[in-house]
Amino acid sequence: MSVTFSALGVPGNLAKVLSESGIETPFPIQEATLPSTLAGGDVLGRGQTGSGKTLAFSLPLVARLAQRPQRRKARFPRALIMAPTRELATQIAKTVDPLAKASGLRTTVIYGGVAQSRQEKAMNEGVDIVIACPGRLDDLIKQKIVDLSQLEISVLDEADHMADMGFLPVVRRIMDRMPTGIQHMLFSATLDNGVDKVVKRYLSNPTIHSVDAPQAAVNTMEHHVFVIGNDDKKELIRILAQGTARRIMFMRTKHHAKKMALALSKAGVPAVDLHGNLSQNARDRNLAAFASGEAKVLVATDVAARGVHVDGVELVVHVDPPAEHKAYTHRSGRTARAGSDGTVVTICTPDQQGDVASLLKQAGLKVPFEKVNLNSPVVAKVVGEVAEHVAYVAPAQQTRNPAKKKPAGESSNARGGRGGGRNVRGGEGQSRGGERRRSDRDGASSQSERPAREARGGNADRPARSARGANTERPSNASRGSRAGGRNASAPTGGRSRGPRRASSPTTSGR
Ligand code: AMP
Repeated sequence: MSVTFSALGVPGNLAKVLSESGIETPFPIQEATLPSTLAGGDVLGRGQTGSGKTLAFSLPLVARLAQRPQRRKARFPRALIMAPTRELATQIAKTVDPLAKASGLRTTVIYGGVAQSRQEKAMNEGVDIVIACPGRLDDLIKQKIVDLSQLEISVLDEADHMADMGFLPVVRRIMDRMPTGIQHMLFSATLDNGVDKVVKRYLSNPTIHSVDAPQAAVNTMEHHVFVIGNDDKKELIRILAQGTARRIMFMRTKHHAKKMALALSKAGVPAVDLHGNLSQNARDRNLAAFASGEAKVLVATDVAARGVHVDGVELVVHVDPPAEHKAYTHRSGRTARAGSDGTVVTICTPDQQGDVASLLKQAGLKVPFEKVNLNSPVVAKVVGEVAEHVAYVAPAQQTRNPAKKKPAGESSNARGGRGGGRNVRGGEGQSRGGERRRSDRDGASSQSERPAREARGGNADRPARSARGANTERPSNASRGSRAGGRNASAPTGGRSRGPRRASSPTTSGR
């Protein structure tokens, strides 16, 4: 019989919260780390996304705070979870919130790109658990709005992505403000790019748990390279987009992602875009539309590969092949999460074959190149069941006739809205006052501009991105003295579509 959360020491009220969202049996990373983390031990989780690491750190964090109740103090959080992107921070909050609520603990999320006032107010009222992106947090610390001197537990999630994005100096500055001897939990797919130094400096005798390496995750997927002439590429994209299950299409530039989402919506395939040119509100709404099933297609730049975790994505399409193999792995990892199946298609024009071949070689994959046309059986097989066509209603028309019921997906997908009416989601982000103008190369700029955005001037110490070295598997356990001390089942609303092709659960992950 498999072990239960309670048997591992998880308090009954938290096990009940999990059980209510259908989570009964611990995943390997949870089973391996909970006994130690619930006792206050450090952990170094080498887990991929989809392994269940969010609960692995959220459960002990909440349980340990609840075990030693304390009066909430303005400005002084008791636990901090740092994540590289706003999307990830928001999704972590979705996992932590119900657990915290069940334990009478208060949480707040802190990130840049939105007004500071709400975050400031929350801190002044007193918060137990802060979930934050480093840049804005650093800002608030400097302004004395947040004080980490009484912190008890620290979590660093996706430390490798933090390193990629140039956040590590800010992260270290923040971690230096924490008391010594507190519990540290650090999760990272790799230990290169300076992550090993953070591990050595802050973690004390950690339990190390390695879940599937990136390669193993990729191996659970079915990979295709479809070679097609330039003339038919656009139509192939539309065909691949039209299935009933969720799919993510990756593009190189923000401009193209926006254009493609609009083109697909106009072609009857509700799609939302996600890239660095959208305001936070537009991102949140688009992501929510995708997570809820209102839009079945997300057209994204690499920003999404880093921070977005939506379960039930059955197909990832590299519309523009990524520039490097790590991006291929990250993008592809949006499917086949939490043990479910997934298909990955790279669309390759004849002139791109050389580049794609070396990319796949570096990723350690042997994928045959399939010359396809629009009627190829393999294309139809990948598409699966075709979703019903959803008539596109231009935003201007929606405004004129607001009472008219919109077709499924339309409210989120009427991303047309150039000029004209109120463009509810993607397009809106482009034109609103709060919008930032950035370079169009999102894949590249998202990494360099995010720290700048988050740090708001505090990024003078941002390092140049260096090539990653080899992984160091075991950290030396620098002893720092002894210790002091949902699944969010959002069923698709897509009344018109017939649900996912496979029986994967369409949940937004709380990772
Ligand atoms: P994560 O790696 O934290 O992003 O988790 C990936 C997905 O697995 C999320 O949708 C979680 O809700 C789900 N999950 C985490 N732990 C479990 C578990 N023990 N049983 C079932 N689902 C889980």
